[in-house]
Amino acid sequence: MKGVSIKVKITLWYLLLMVAMMAMVLGFILAVSSSVEAQTAMRQISATVRSNLSQIDMADGKLQIGEDFQFYQNGVYTLVYSQNETLLAGQPPVSFTEVGGFENGETRTVSAGNEDYYVMDLWRSFGWENGVWVRGVMEVPESTTLVENLLLMVAVAMPVVILFSTIGGYWIARKAFRPLEEIIATADTINDGADLSARVQVPAGNNEFTRLARTFDQMFARLEDSFEAEKQFTSDASHELRTPISVIKGACAYSLKYDETMEEQRENIVMIQRQAEKMAAMVSDLLHMTRLDQGTERMHLEKADLGEILREVCGEQPDTGRTLHLEAEEQVTAQVDRTLISRLLQNLITNAAKYGRPDGNIWISLKTAGEEILLSVKDDGIGISPEHQEKVWQRFYQADASRSEDSGVGLGLSMVKKIAELHGGYMTLESAPGEGSTFTLHLPRGEKK
Ligand code: ADP
Repeated sequence: MKGVSIKVKITLWYLLLMVAMMAMVLGFILAVSSSVEAQTAMRQISATVRSNLSQIDMADGKLQIGEDFQFYQNGVYTLVYSQNETLLAGQPPVSFTEVGGFENGETRTVSAGNEDYYVMDLWRSFGWENGVWVRGVMEVPESTTLVENLLLMVAVAMPVVILFSTIGGYWIARKAFRPLEEIIATADTINDGADLSARVQVPAGNNEFTRLARTFDQMFARLEDSFEAEKQFTSDASHELRTPISVIKGACAYSLKYDETMEEQRENIVMIQRQAEKMAAMVSDLLHMTRLDQGTERMHLEKADLGEILREVCGEQPDTGRTLHLEAEEQVTAQVDRTLISRLLQNLITNAAKYGRPDGNIWISLKTAGEEILLSVKDDGIGISPEHQEKVWQRFYQADASRSEDSGVGLGLSMVKKIAELHGGYMTLESAPGEGSTFTLHLPRGEKK
């Protein structure tokens, strides 16, 4: 039984159960019908004997049998015996050899020859001393046609019913198990060809297996996202680290070969340090991005006062020469992950400072508008030309990468966008070159589900 599939096991089990049940029902029907038959026969015998009894009389010491006396009626033989048990009238059935053992008024079963008989005796007395026994004898009927028909019906119907129920049961089990087969096939595909995009073709319905199949699909999707994010990380990291690494290598080689004074060496070391810091920042940003993509950096949503988060982040800003203006509506709350929202805001403020005028302004505002909460960071810096505005949200996209050493690596805004989306919101950008940019986070008001 070990190698047998669950479908077959279930089908076999129900088949067995059904056969047992049918056998029980059959046994019950037979038992009931034979007991009903016995009762009917006994009633018959008793009625016949009693009616014959009334036809017997004794006149002048001689037995008188009336005209209506029936020696054989409805399968019942009626016999008349004398007091000393000699047969006076009637013809017993051939194999009924039993004589004597009279019991007044009792119907009982007697075996004689190869047959079973129902026997009933009644004592008819004439005066004090004289009397006769009237005995009814009836063959115990073999199973009647009703029972025979029933048996025949069962014999024909049972295999048909069992066949149909077995086929039906197996069909239902197979249909129910199909999602499981699909899961196995999909997992095999993924396993064999490393095709992570394979999904279970979940059939309609909401039973345990279809739910399992859906859960598996979600798991496969998560797996695929994870692998994709990892692949992206590896390719991004190797691609983006190549530049600073070659700069560092070049600087080292140059310094070793040409730097003569301490001053020259120092210059090179400072440059190497800057590149190393840039690399560290990039790896850290990349890791954050990957975790957000993979979903390994779990969101901790809580109801938070956004104004409070703004004030906190603004308070932590280093002095960059820019003037920070904060304008926040009171009591604007939302379900957010404080760390992620702080990171989003920090990125926007850093950019506003990086791409702003040295003595410029940064305006931060928080307000509600209709169904949305608007959080914007505005600067009066270099701005972004229309052709770049769509693209700044892409990973590693930099509107003007050659601009300065501290321009970052182009991950900040893609992280901002991701965080907005994780909160069920989105980002917009308004900007004009030379005038400044406004980045706005739109969050849905009310509880985020
Ligand atoms: P990074 O700042 O590291 O280059 P970001 O993803 O934060 O990367 O930004 C992408 C690009 O968008 C920047 O390189 C810059 O060209 C442009 N940008 C971002 N913020 C501003 C801003 N406030 N003003 C002008 N340009 C900006």
